[in-house]
Amino acid sequence: MKIYEKAPAKINLLLDVIRKRDDGYHEVEMIMTMVDLADRLEMEELPRDQIVLTSQAGFIPLDEKNLAFQAARLIKERYSVSRGVYFHLDKRIPVAAGLAGGSSDAAAALRGLNRLWQLGLTLEELEALGAELGSDVPFCIRGGTAIARGRGEVLESIAPPPQCWVVLAKPPINVSTADVYGKFKAHEGQSHPSIPGMLDAIRRQSFQAMCDALGNVLETVTLHSYPEVRQIKECMVKLGADGVLMSGSGPTVFGLVAKETKLARIYNGLRGFCKEVYVVRMLT
Ligand code: ATP
Repeated sequence: MKIYEKAPAKINLLLDVIRKRDDGYHEVEMIMTMVDLADRLEMEELPRDQIVLTSQAGFIPLDEKNLAFQAARLIKERYSVSRGVYFHLDKRIPVAAGLAGGSSDAAAALRGLNRLWQLGLTLEELEALGAELGSDVPFCIRGGTAIARGRGEVLESIAPPPQCWVVLAKPPINVSTADVYGKFKAHEGQSHPSIPGMLDAIRRQSFQAMCDALGNVLETVTLHSYPEVRQIKECMVKLGADGVLMSGSGPTVFGLVAKETKLARIYNGLRGFCKEVYVVRMLT
């Protein structure tokens, strides 16, 4: 039997860092939603007790460093499964981009193996397992739109945002999430994006209010260290995107666009100096 799972990318409509905790993690408040740019994970039972992972992407690890591999190992150990699995990962989400590609692959592996091995785990149990693999994995298991608190694993599902186009542009640089959080210094007088403001915009289904409420405090770090990210942001605004923000710790920048007629100009303008540009829909 073959099983397929879609592993969509996420964007942060809002990302705020509250404080650094004693355990080294940062306490965050985020509003996350999924977009229609996805990896695809194929799973098949292996006749021997082994995890094998292949991918068409030449630039990601295929051993125990891969999050899908780690997910399989964790679920096997925790539930004493002595069966093997063959994964093929069709990688579409740019890597180390701030789009949680690896976390979404791990989530897809947990969801899929729960089905393949008929473990009967609930969504809550899968989310708890996911939290052991990474802060964004529980959200990737649940999907939809949610407020994420704690280190990102404490979730509250909310209504989907107003539907729109999302233009994603990733400059050709790799940004380490740990590095960005490490450099982030919360200081007094810093402006914080407003969670109530974004929730109100979503409740009213007001596209304009959602664009106005976008905010990510990590931009202060990444835009400072990488001028090309700032350049993409400015370019998207000039080309007419209605709301523009960096996702996660970057470097991907997304633009929210209401009118389809604007897309060609924005896409072509960005492609002039950025190779990785995607036009997708929100997964509402
Ligand atoms: P986040 O938004 O959660 O910080 P990201 O989008 O910035 O994540 P990923 O694409 O998940 O970053 O990859 C980060 C690192 O994890 C890369 O250096 C990559 O080598 C490693 N990695 C492990 N498993 C995977 C996977 N399945 N897909 C992509 N990268 C993976």
